[in-house]
Amino acid sequence: MSRLLGKVAAVTGGARGIGRAIAEAYAREGAAVVVADIDGDAATETAARIAVTGARALAVRVDVTKPAEASGLVDQAVRAFGALDVLVNNAGVIGRVDWLDMTESEWDRVMDVNVKGTFLCGQAAARHMTARGTGNIVNICSNSAESTYPTTLHYCASKGAVKTLTKAMALALAPKGVRCNAIGPGPTETALSHGRLDVASERAATLAHIPLGRVGAPSDLAGAAIFLASDEAAWVTGITLFVDGGWLTF
Ligand code: NAD
Repeated sequence: MSRLLGKVAAVTGGARGIGRAIAEAYAREGAAVVVADIDGDAATETAARIAVTGARALAVRVDVTKPAEASGLVDQAVRAFGALDVLVNNAGVIGRVDWLDMTESEWDRVMDVNVKGTFLCGQAAARHMTARGTGNIVNICSNSAESTYPTTLHYCASKGAVKTLTKAMALALAPKGVRCNAIGPGPTETALSHGRLDVASERAATLAHIPLGRVGAPSDLAGAAIFLASDEAAWVTGITLFVDGGWLTF
């Protein structure tokens, strides 16, 4: 339980769902954790839950779509804990609407958080990490990068962009000693997925597409997130590791 001992990790969208599970897992592995979220109260609550276990945790309210807030997140992590070793670009949003009815503002809302937020926070962290010659970034992608739905076309496109961005970031950062990888979760029980999973027929259709026979729990993503952030993955960069119960076997 010490694979991230002495490391400092920031998790965007860390207040709940998959981000919270990753933040808690990192803390159990010895990292100091920055819980960064647009919901400042929920971030404070999650950081407090982590701190009672004896780990170091800081809550930061951040909107990942704002350049000054993205760089402010890195500054606050460095001020509190001395450096930033790991950034998890996890903040994400979805919307469900037939794409023929999709408005420009709905398209922009999803692309801004999922793609621009990953770019902005990734760039701010990469500037700090490349100056130190060490560190790594984990982007949270989705099975929707490969497997599309007509009612979440913008979300699928955004996650396809995250997958490609991960490879481009890895290539740019490798000569400077910094790695970048992604995790592609399959359907996981969180607030984000409930629009689909709360409808019995859609949950049944989802389950029928998962060979391992169940929807994921947020904690199912923790092992991959620890591995990619740790020195065990020292020779791994540019990949998207799908953790999806076998969804993409179809
Ligand atoms: P969630 O809604 O439970 O959590 C998302 C978090 O992101 C929330 O705490 C929210 O406040 C935060 N957030 C939203 N916009 C933000 C912004 N502009 N700035 C900072 N924080 C912001 O969702 P989740 O399911 O835990 O999603 C986490 C990631 O996993 C997302 O990138 C999502 O696309 C991805 N994912 C989820 C599933 C799934 O089935 N739940 C599947 C594949 C991928």
